[in-house]
Amino acid sequence: MKILVINAGSSSLKYQLYDMTNEAVLAKGLVERIGIEGSVLTHRPEGKDKHIVKTPMPDHKVAISLVLDSLSDPSVGVIQSPDEITAVGHRIVHGGEKYSKSVLLSKELIQELDEVSKLAPLHNPPALIGIHACQELMPKTPMTAVFDTSFHQTMEPSAYMYALPYELYESDKIRRYGFHGTSHKYVSQRAAELLIRNIEDMKIVTCHLGNGSSVTGVKYGKAIDTSMGFTPLAGLIMGTRTGDMDPAIVTYLMAEKGWDAKAVDNLMNKKSGVLGISGVSSDFRDLEKAASEGHKRSQLALDMFYYRVRKYIGAYAAAMGGLDAIVFTAGLGENSPEAREEILKGLEFFGFEVDQEKDACRGKEVVFSTEGSKVKLLVVPTNEELMIARDTKELVQAEA
Ligand code: AMP
Repeated sequence: MKILVINAGSSSLKYQLYDMTNEAVLAKGLVERIGIEGSVLTHRPEGKDKHIVKTPMPDHKVAISLVLDSLSDPSVGVIQSPDEITAVGHRIVHGGEKYSKSVLLSKELIQELDEVSKLAPLHNPPALIGIHACQELMPKTPMTAVFDTSFHQTMEPSAYMYALPYELYESDKIRRYGFHGTSHKYVSQRAAELLIRNIEDMKIVTCHLGNGSSVTGVKYGKAIDTSMGFTPLAGLIMGTRTGDMDPAIVTYLMAEKGWDAKAVDNLMNKKSGVLGISGVSSDFRDLEKAASEGHKRSQLALDMFYYRVRKYIGAYAAAMGGLDAIVFTAGLGENSPEAREEILKGLEFFGFEVDQEKDACRGKEVVFSTEGSKVKLLVVPTNEELMIARDTKELVQAEA
């Protein structure tokens, strides 16, 4: 069974083709600048050289058509024809309250997804465009939607409600949703596997630390709380996003500076975070370098970031009534031993000790706590695409 995973953004599209008999990646790639001058497709077939296609791609349909051409091309392809693709799994950021699981797409479902789109106006519409384009090109191929929010739908109301008038929850569905769910699910399950433990007996905090960052408490395999909220702006300090702050700052800025909603939104999403504090970069590699050269605001940005992650780990351990493992993933979490160590400083009272030698690794699975540690520390590189492919396989097989 071959499954194509598609992650469509407004002007970009990532894809991976899996052979699900052994979960091997046959090819992956990225299309950039869809609808913009300079469109480019970078196709990476397994075991062959990468192939670059530079041609105008006015819309997602043209882009996906070129992806299918590359996948089935006699020299750079990995299949003979797109007909070999059993199903397509689409990543969708927001599934609202309705979707606590991945779903097989039908006409009605796509209509319903349109309704959820208002909760994620930047993210869901491009994914829907990707779905429509794929359906036009592969009308007989089953498609699924896998949501970033689904894994968090197990939260209790006490964790997901905001203390606003209840009517706003009823009328506008304003509540915590949480994001990066596919990643938190994958790394928590993988952590249990690596520790040869049953996830249903474990209390795990998963830290997805990248350009966008979030922490989740996973108790007995289910998300009980997560740091992102109604939108992916909440929680941790991020590359350019504020994370949590006093909401009155918004009304202060509007009243005192005369800024409108759009200006404040732009400030909080694009100009804040470690970029806003450091004035240097949103990229943690740049900040680590600048801080090591004595740049104080970069060091402050890093310290603020580490401190907030540490607070969330503590909060979720308290919410779960214990802690068995802390898992790090995504760009920074997987690749920066310095960040992991700084975050964990002061949390040793939970009952762990860092094995410095094992922690020195980058980008691979490792248990980096010492043998005797009561609480285990792990790095698990995330694999949202594989999770999407697995869900898609399951849904298609259940339907057959
Ligand atoms: P992601 O959003 O998961 O792709 O993560 C991107 C973030 O990970 C960027 O801020 C990068 O600076 C950071 N990152 C990637 N590799 C490293 C590394 N070797 N050391 C520190 N940070 C890294």
